[in-house]
Parts: sequence; structure tokens; C-alpha cells
Amino acid sequence: MVNKPVNALSKALRIGLIEAVTSALQNNQVDAIIISSELSLFSAGADISEFSGGDLSPMLPEVLTLIEGSSKPIVAAINGGAFGGGLELALACHYRVTVSNNNVGLPEVHLGILPGAGGTQRLPRLIDPQLALQMIVTGTPTPVAAINSLFNEIVSPDILIETALKIAKNAIANTIPATCLIELKNTPIIKRLFAQARDQLSMKSRGFFAPSKCIDAVQAAFDLPFEQGLIKETELFMQCMNTSQARAQQHFFFAERAAAALPNIAKDTPTRVINKVGIIGAGTMGGGIAMNFVNVGVEVVILELETSNLEKGLGLIRSNYENSANKGRLTQEQVQQRMGLISGTTQYDDLADVDLVIEAVFEKMSVKKEVFMKLDKVCKPGAILASNTSTLDLNEIANCVARPQDVIGLHFFSPANVMKLLEVVKGEKTADDVIKTAMQLAKIIKKVGVLVGVCFGFVGNRMIEVYAREANRLLLEGARPEQIDKVIYDFGMPMGPFTMGDMAGLDIGYFVRQSRQAFIQHDPSYCVIADELVEAGRVGLKAGKGVYLYEKGSRTPIPDPSVLDVAKRKANELGIAQRDISDQEILERCIYPLINEGANILQEGITQRASDIDVIYVYGYGFPVYRGGPMQYADEIGLDKILARMRHYEHSLGKYGQQWFTPSSLLLELVEKKQKFADYKAQQ
Ligand code: NAD
Repeated sequence: MVNKPVNALSKALRIGLIEAVTSALQNNQVDAIIISSELSLFSAGADISEFSGGDLSPMLPEVLTLIEGSSKPIVAAINGGAFGGGLELALACHYRVTVSNNNVGLPEVHLGILPGAGGTQRLPRLIDPQLALQMIVTGTPTPVAAINSLFNEIVSPDILIETALKIAKNAIANTIPATCLIELKNTPIIKRLFAQARDQLSMKSRGFFAPSKCIDAVQAAFDLPFEQGLIKETELFMQCMNTSQARAQQHFFFAERAAAALPNIAKDTPTRVINKVGIIGAGTMGGGIAMNFVNVGVEVVILELETSNLEKGLGLIRSNYENSANKGRLTQEQVQQRMGLISGTTQYDDLADVDLVIEAVFEKMSVKKEVFMKLDKVCKPGAILASNTSTLDLNEIANCVARPQDVIGLHFFSPANVMKLLEVVKGEKTADDVIKTAMQLAKIIKKVGVLVGVCFGFVGNRMIEVYAREANRLLLEGARPEQIDKVIYDFGMPMGPFTMGDMAGLDIGYFVRQSRQAFIQHDPSYCVIADELVEAGRVGLKAGKGVYLYEKGSRTPIPDPSVLDVAKRKANELGIAQRDISDQEILERCIYPLINEGANILQEGITQRASDIDVIYVYGYGFPVYRGGPMQYADEIGLDKILARMRHYEHSLGKYGQQWFTPSSLLLELVEKKQKFADYKAQQ
């Protein structure tokens, strides 16, 4: 029996396994059993859709007890990846054979849980305990060659079944012993191993619940006999399963997969072939974008107006690759090969044969339009014309060319060669095949593409503007920057809003505000402190001073009392009373309006689904995945509670502040219907 596409160990497959093993045990003609897969994977593990509940009997441990206790030898012929429950199934077999170049792993920790079908008890009894611990705590796939003691043989795929048969025959003849679980001893070395693992955890897995439970479970394999260890594993598994983190991480697993789906585009829509990419602008973004393509073997030509800028940009790309080579991540040959795929030009005619061009020039409409009009003249029919604009109106850009159907936004995040998120921006005239090609391209360059519509800042930056505004407003009302940053850091973001602003450059937000005066000038308190800092040359880390001060060569923010003086003066001028502000208020005022803006975005049909916003926030802004993204976080807290707090601030913040807390009508509607964001289907 098979469960396409990945042999997820669903209830039907578990029943199938029990029936097949039971029938083989009862059949006198059968002396041994081989378990293998017809699919390219052995098994990807549990069927995660079952986690929401229902009658799940028989559970996997029941199946594995039957297999492990079988009187006839059972051989796992692991033809492809065996993950989670799939690997646990193989661990319960008496013999294992696999193919070289295969990977196996126990990735449950990524779902906020731990292996719950004996994996934490069997694996350390079969391989080096340190490796077992690492595999379970990090969840990373491991090449079979690194854990060869787990297998009786590692062979080429063509002789896998033949070898499994040979092992089975030898097992029947009693010439090879079954790989048995060794007895573990809690030596001083082992104790140190666990102590070290816990130390490292506090740095690497800040805020996550499951990794420390994974350590507890593996430790139980050393502290307890096997049967009791299994009971302990189940207990720890249930502790993880019942957390908001497990719900969030499982939500995110599905969110990421859902983001790739394009329900409004016909399945048979063809895609365009992209063999060569043009990039306009070799600055911060252009260089990083170029690296994405050459990293996967796609030829790139970069255009700059001035040769000096071109050389500077190309030099930066080379030094990025050289740095990777110095760290041993690339060979010199690979550096040469990648640089060999990039050419530079100052002539638009050199873009005549590109299949896709991505513009990454200054964020100014007149400059963008000029570039697009030139591209319209030289690019071949069918070439996709993309813009990396962060905030400008893509429709306005598209309407300046004769082929607006070929225009799309490809909004990369900085550093573009590192950040996984790609907002794919659909203009009002963008053709379906262009959208489908762009989403497919995201996968090819190893990004997570999320389709969004046109609005100021698209999804990510539109929401972050709200969050930054409120952080600034809290500063004005008397909170200290380091207090605000700590609350947000402790919430799980990689850094607080002021550290982030200094790092990105306070001038970026300043210029955006200059271009949006019509929308914000009714609030004279809007980011007034940031405006004053920028006007005084305090543009952030690059200037050695922004909201914080920085010592030369250091990125460590140092609080500056003079910023509090600015806040006090500005608050006085605006008639805003300064006060002590609680951490809880800081958190709610930064995160709830962000969620509210997400609701507006969803209602306007800018995203296809609420979970797309979560994907954007986790991959683009480091929102903690254990909270699932802002919309899942809101669903978990309860939309009625979010609404109540929005109402509270709407009525209590007084002058200028309260106007930003008007609840989204979608939030009101969902609370009224007692629904969640996850229930809402956007109409696009
Ligand atoms: P940048 O100033 O580092 O680079 C812009 C480059 O474009 C410069 O090298 C400049 O010489 C070149 N250029 C300017 N006008 C040109 C023209 N007419 N023809 C050819 N080249 C020209 O800017 P950046 O940070 O790379 O931003 C580029 C675009 O990417 C902007 O639209 C920006 O909003 C967007 N963006 C930036 C970030 C970021 O964090 N920096 C993130 C996402 C998107």
C-alpha cells in the first residue's frame, strides 16, 4: 500500500501496515518481511493534518510495537528519505538497508514537538548519542553516510531490494544478528554532553519550547530503561503538543505550502522560460539579486549608467563570493564560475536578449519610469519587466510601457542574497503567466514567493510602518528606546524597532514620510523624534549615531540620554504628557495595530489568505515562527481580546494617538461572527 505523494503515515497507512505485517506473520509461506516504498521517499513521517484530532487509532507506536516484537525478521529497505515517523518506523525494524546519498532525520522539533514514536529512545541506542541528540534537537536531515552504524548495508539503488532479500535470508538462517538497542550508561561524558547541549540551546533556540523537551527526552534514554523511556517520551510529546508554539509552528508549516498556491490562475497556464536575467542598478539590492540567479546557474547582465558604479557593484559581488570562499563555503572554482555568469554593461541594447529584467534603481517614480520606457524599447517581446520598488505604485510604472501585462513587482528583502522572502507584486494588468512564472522562479532561486497586490509598501512594509510609528509614539510618551527594544526582543523578534531602524538607516523611513505627507500630516506627533534625528545627521549605524550611539567599528547600540531630552521637548511642544509605560502596553501598542493593518490588507484583497501575511512576517521580518506570524498570533490570543485592547487605546490615548487605533472593519466582522483570520477567505 502507498500514500502519495510522500507516504505520510496516515491512519489508513498505519492500518495497512498492521494488516500487512499481521497477515505475513500468520502466513506459513512467509519467513521474513521487507518494508520498502514505491515512491521516491521512504516516508516523510506523520500526516500533519491529523494533528487537529479525531479517532487516530491505531497510533504509530502500536504499529512499531508489532514490528519490533515480530517473530519473523523485518528489514527496512529505505529507498529514499525517511523522516519523522518514517525514520521511527525504520528504527523499529530488525535490519535496515539504504541507498548512498540518502538523507534521514527527525524534524519534529520544527513543528514544535518531538519524535513521539520511540525515536528519542531508539536512535541514541543505535548511533553515536551526540549525533542522535543533535539530529533530534536541530531536526536537520542527516546523510546516511554520517550515521552508517544505523544500517546493515548502504548500497546503490539498483541492488537495494536484492540486498534486503540477502539480509532477510541471512536473518532467517540466523547468520546475522538483528541490530539491537544497546544499553545506555549515564557517564560523566554523557552528563557533560547534555549540559553543553542545554547551554547552546539558550543561544540558538531562544524562546522555543520544544528543543529543551527534545533534550529531556534523549536524556531519558540514559536515565531510564527502554520501556520507561518510551513512557517519558510520550509524556514530553504531549507537553509539546498542547502548546501554542506547536499550534503556531504547525500552522506555519501549512502556511508556507499554501503561499505557493494560485487558486485564481488556471492550472494549465503556461510559464515563460527564463534563461537570462537583466538587472538595472548594481547597488545594495541589484548586486544581491544578481547573486540569487548566478547561484543557480542563470546568466545575468547588470546595467549601470556609469562605469565606475558598475565596477563598484561587480567588485562587491566578487568580494561577497571571495568571503564565502575564505570561509570554506565555496571553492575558488565556484567563485570563478559564478562571476563568469555575470556581465556588466552601460548600454541598454545589451538587454535585447534577456527573458526577465529586474529594475533596482533609486526609489523615485521619475527614475523608475525613465528606466521602464527604455526597457520597453529594447527588450524582446515576452520579456518580463520587473521592479524591486518597496513603496511606489507598480500600476503607475506599468502604465508607462506598451506592455503592462508583462510588468510585475519582485520585491526582494535586504540582503537580497540571504533573505528568503520574495513579495511577488501583481499589478492590475499583470498577465497570469507572468505571475505563475514569477512564483515558480522564486522556488528556483530558493526563495519563498508570496503573491501580493499593489498598495503602499505592499504587505510587509505597509505593516512595519504602523509598528515603527507606534514605537516612536511610545518614545514620545515617555518609554525609553532600550525598554521598547527589549520588550520586542523578548517577544521573539530578532531585534527591537529602534535597533532595526538604526541598522536599516533612519533616512529610509524619513524619505518615505516625506513622500507621504498627505497621509500623515494631520498627526504632528508622527515620528517627530526620528525626523529631528535625521535632520541632525543622526541617520543610524552608518553614521555612528541614530536613536542609539555606536562606537567606531561596533554595532552595539549605546543608549543616549539626549534622545530622551528630544522626546521630552517634543512631547511638551505637542502637549503630550509623558509617563511610565508598562511592558505590556508597549507590546500591545506595537503588535496589535500591526495585526489590525494586516486585517485591512486582507480585507482589501492584497493577499490571498491571512497565512500569507504570516509567511511574509516570519521570512521577511523575523517574526518568531513559534508564534506563527502576526495573524496566527492574533487568532491564538482571540480576536475579541485584540479588538477590546484596540478600543481601549482608541479611547485612552488622547491627542493624536487614538486615531491610529480604529479597528479594521474585518476585525469587527470576524469578532461579530466569532471567527478567526484563518477562517477568512479573501476575494481576489
Ligand atoms: P542603491 O542606492 O544602493 O542602488 C541603486 C543603484 O541604482 C545605484 O548603484 C545607482 O547608481 C543605480 N542607478 C540609479 N539610477 C539608475 C539608472 N537610471 N539606470 C541605471 N542605474 C541606476 O539602492 P538600493 O538600496 O539597492 O535600492 C534599489 C531599489 O530597491 C529601490 O527601489 C528600493 O526601494 C528597493 N529596495 C531596497 C531595499 C533595501 O533595503 N535597500 C529593500 C527592498 C527594496
